[in-house]
Amino acid sequence: MIEGPGHMPLDQIGYNVRMIKEITDHAPLYLLGPLVTDIAPGYDHVVAAIGGATACLNGADFLCMVSPSEHLALPDVDDIIEGTRVAKIAAHVGDTVRKHSGWKDAREVQMAEARHELDWDAQFRLAMFDDHARKIHERDGETETCSMCGDLCAVKMVNELFGNGVGKKQAGKKKGK
Ligand code: SF4
Repeated sequence: MIEGPGHMPLDQIGYNVRMIKEITDHAPLYLLGPLVTDIAPGYDHVVAAIGGATACLNGADFLCMVSPSEHLALPDVDDIIEGTRVAKIAAHVGDTVRKHSGWKDAREVQMAEARHELDWDAQFRLAMFDDHARKIHERDGETETCSMCGDLCAVKMVNELFGNGVGKKQAGKKKGK
């Protein structure tokens, strides 16, 4: 397995990944990141995910987890969990394009439909990290919409306007603010 570079401007990732794959006769390639900026310590897991997704769609085979404590300290357990979750998102984002499934990916389509229907159970079931998503959604109380727009929820209004029956799956839940 080949280890690729860990720091690189965004616009150089695609070329470099394709070049490494070419000169190694497509040996498995893994990267830590690459990190696309060095001035966001504390958020290096996000910085690495941006580069990682780009590397993935250009042919990288494995993304190494980068934790929020990269370049700052030894990671604790929460840092490892957070970094691993973000790396998993980056790999998924890259794969949806690389595998040419894009938004036709079944889970993406199902999530879009669940959001259209304001079907929260389905949204949490489809979410990569349902515990975290549920915790945020329930922070302001359990509502029919999310508390971002409340009663001005565009999804809810459009469905009510066109009589799509939204709200049926939220029976017994409190009204949005
Ligand atoms: S409340 Fe706003 S952000 Fe939330 S689902 Fe409706 S339109 Fe989207």
